[in-house]
Amino acid sequence: MRADPPDPGKLLPIAVPPSRRVSLVWSATGLSAIATAMNDRLTLRRPDDWHLHLRDGAMLAGVLPETARHFARAIIMPNLVPPVVTAADAEAYRDRIVAALPAGARFEPLMTLYLTETTDPADVRRAAANAIVRAVKLYPAGATTNSASGVRDLTRVLPVLETMAEIGLPLCVHGEVTDSEVDIFDREAVFLDRVLAPLRDSLPDLRVVMEHVTTGEGIAYVRGEPAATMGATITAHHLIIDRNHILVGGIKPHYYCLPVAKRAIHRAALIDAATSGDPRFFLGTDSAPHTDALKEAACGCAGCFTATNALSCLAEVFDRAGSLDRLEGFASLHGPAFYRLPANEETVTLVRGAPVAYPPKIDTGDGPVTLFDPGFPLHWHVEESTSR
Ligand SMILES: [Zn+2]
Repeated sequence: MRADPPDPGKLLPIAVPPSRRVSLVWSATGLSAIATAMNDRLTLRRPDDWHLHLRDGAMLAGVLPETARHFARAIIMPNLVPPVVTAADAEAYRDRIVAALPAGARFEPLMTLYLTETTDPADVRRAAANAIVRAVKLYPAGATTNSASGVRDLTRVLPVLETMAEIGLPLCVHGEVTDSEVDIFDREAVFLDRVLAPLRDSLPDLRVVMEHVTTGEGIAYVRGEPAATMGATITAHHLIIDRNHILVGGIKPHYYCLPVAKRAIHRAALIDAATSGDPRFFLGTDSAPHTDALKEAACGCAGCFTATNALSCLAEVFDRAGSLDRLEGFASLHGPAFYRLPANEETVTLVRGAPVAYPPKIDTGDGPVTLFDPGFPLHWHVEESTSR
């Protein structure tokens, strides 16, 4: 990404599986392919993002076009300050998002409620019946950005969870314990044992999405559960970085997110799951904008901003895994199936060519937001969005 074009005539190796390796040549007129009979176009149903942070106000206005450009819908996280806790809050936030859309954009925000210990089951039931909300989000108190209102004691929200199980409304969980005794790299695995497994034992009909799963343990857990009641989102950046990217050679604040990226073996498990075709796994970018001032600080915020280049990143990952044929399932089909919504009729076409030059930063009214840098060139770009 963001590599300058090499000198004309210089051979440019392209990162594809060895069986498909080709060389491309720069000429005065740009890049010309020596081998053109490759599978360089990929048309998918227009993808959705099943986990997205849009924030509010100037930040919302700045980042929303980045998602709306390629994605048809997104599950909108409710961790504003104050959080989105009632149906009325969700409706008002949805209206602010729609008002901030660029003219002509075709994008539908799918709203969620922030589960608190005072959430009213009747309000949740009404909001779901009227399609105002599509899920409820569980943040263990203190787990991530703006999660102080989260749940401390699950037994206090049992009536809400029972209602959700009855009506089929998914619970999206930030799957980390917040116990200060537990190492930050172990918090997801401990959450499975301490919280998720007992919760699912007590409410087996509750439909749960393990958000932004980051560990082999998380993948194994989800694979062992029924696809009708258990799903998991995987981000683009967790398929690309592991903890070395954050910490080796100087700390990289723009790679810091929560759940924090783990060891390389966990990243391999995530790639295996995402590219497996298993319907339990689908895209949730967790694109989470913070200004550079908040990221590049002594106590930097958690979050990677990937809305702009997530599809290019994913195509590269799936291409390297030899699984481009499974990208549509992961990005466009498995999510709607879990959420019981139709897949999108429109399509996007990805084209492989010269590396895409994405801007390093997005300007917002709150300040610049640095775009996730995968650390390798992105050869797939999104060409068009068309009706099917
Ligand atoms: Zn998130």
